[in-house]
Amino acid sequence: MKNKVVNLRNVSQNPCSMCMPLGGIIPFKGLEQSMVILHGSQGCSTYMRRFMAEHFNEPIDVGSSALNEKGTVYGGEENLKKGLDNILKVYNPKLIGILTTCLAETIGEDIDRISLEYLQEREMEDFPLVTVPTPAYSDSHTEGYFLAVKRIITRLAQKSEKNEKVNIIIPNISPADIREIKRILEGMEIAYTLLPDFSETMDAPFTNNFGKLPNGGTKLGDIRNMPGAKATIELGITVEDHLSPGKYLENSFGVPLYRLPLPIGLENTDKFILTLKTISGKEVPEMFRKERGRLQDCMIDSHKYNAQGIAVVFGEPELVYAVTKTCLENGIKPKVLATGSKNFKSGQLFGEESSNLKVLTETDFVHIRQVCKEMDVNLAIGNSEGKYLTEKEGIPLVRIGFPIHDRVGGQRILSVGYQGTIMFLDRITNTLLEYKLSNYRSSMYQKYFQGIDVK
Ligand code: SF4
Repeated sequence: MKNKVVNLRNVSQNPCSMCMPLGGIIPFKGLEQSMVILHGSQGCSTYMRRFMAEHFNEPIDVGSSALNEKGTVYGGEENLKKGLDNILKVYNPKLIGILTTCLAETIGEDIDRISLEYLQEREMEDFPLVTVPTPAYSDSHTEGYFLAVKRIITRLAQKSEKNEKVNIIIPNISPADIREIKRILEGMEIAYTLLPDFSETMDAPFTNNFGKLPNGGTKLGDIRNMPGAKATIELGITVEDHLSPGKYLENSFGVPLYRLPLPIGLENTDKFILTLKTISGKEVPEMFRKERGRLQDCMIDSHKYNAQGIAVVFGEPELVYAVTKTCLENGIKPKVLATGSKNFKSGQLFGEESSNLKVLTETDFVHIRQVCKEMDVNLAIGNSEGKYLTEKEGIPLVRIGFPIHDRVGGQRILSVGYQGTIMFLDRITNTLLEYKLSNYRSSMYQKYFQGIDVK
C-alpha cells in the first residue's frame, strides 16, 4: 500500500487556544444573577463546564439545548425554547446569554430570530436575552470572550445621564487579578463599572447556603449606565476594533476610550495608574508609590538570575503581550510568542524588539515545541497546556492565564498591578533558580569531565 503523506501543519494537535463559545461563557459568569445556554449538542457544554470547573474550582452551570439527530436535520428551535423555559423555571435569572456551537452554526440556526420569537410568545419582550454567535471553527476563545462582552453592552447600554464612573473592560484574567484592579481603583477613590466582574462569582467564599446562582457580578443597571461614564479603559490593546466593547461605547455614545495593556510589569502598571490619574484628576496615593518602589527593588534582586531565561510565552494575545513586555523589562529574553488566535499585532507592538521574536499565530503545541527546541528555550510562561513542553522537552513552566487545570488555585493566581507583578516575577525567578540548581552540576561535569557519573 502506498504511504499516505500527511502535512502536519494542516492539522492541529493540542491547539494553543480553546473553542469560541467557551470564551463567550466567561463574561456571562461575571454578571449578576445571569445564566447561559449553549445551542448545540450536549457534549459541548459538558466539555466547557469541565474546563471552567477545573480552573475556577467552582460549580459551573451551563445550559444546553441538547440538539439531537432530529434537531440537526429539522432545526433546533423547539429544543432551544424548551431549554430557555427550563432555565427560567430552575434559576430565575435576570439575564440569559445564548451562545451557538459548531453544530448550530453549521446548520444555520438564527438565534436572533428564535430569541425574538421566544420573547414575543412568552410576552416578556423586555427580558434581556443576549445572543452571541460563536462558531468555534472560525475563532478562538479570546474572540468569543470579547464578542460576548460587546454583545452584553450592545443589548443593555442605554443613553444615560453623565456620571462620575469610569468603565473598565476586563479581559480574561483571574478573579484575584480582578480584585487587585478593584483595590487599585478603590485606593484612588475612583467610582467604576467593571465589566465583566467574576471576582466573586468565580471565586466565592465558602458558605453553608448554596445558591443556584452565585452572588456578585456586574449589576445590569450599571451596564445600562455605561454610556454616561467619564471614560472607558479597555485593558485590551490587541483586541480588534470590531470586537472592542470600548470602541462600541465610543462610537455609539461618545465615551472617551483609553486602550491600555494589561497592567502587568512596571511600565504597563504605570500606564494604568497614570491614566486613572488623568481621567479622575486625583493624586496617586503614597501606598501605590511604595508598592512601585518594592517592585523596583524586586527587579534589582532578580535581574541577575533572570538574564539566564530564554522564554516562550503563549496563550491569549493580551496576556502574551503583557508578559513579554514584563520579561523584556527584567532581562528575560522572550524568543517565542505563541497564540491560538489569528490576530496578534506583535510587529507593531514591540517596535525594534520584534525582529528578535519568533511569533506563532493560530498555532498548536507540536509546532511550539519544535520552535522552542530550535531556539534553545529554557522557560515556558503560560497556561496548563504548556505541560507538554515540560513533559517532552524538560522546559519548566510558570503557570499564568487560562486554563490552569493541572494545579489548584488558577483563580487565585495574582499577576496584575505592582504587587501582582512582584509575585509573578518571583515565580519566574524561582523557577529559573530551581532549574539551574537542579541541572548545573550534571551539565558542568558533562562539559568538563565527560563520562564521570556525578550522581
Ligand atoms: S469546538 Fe465546536 S463541537 Fe467542539 S466543543 Fe467547541 S463548539 Fe462544541
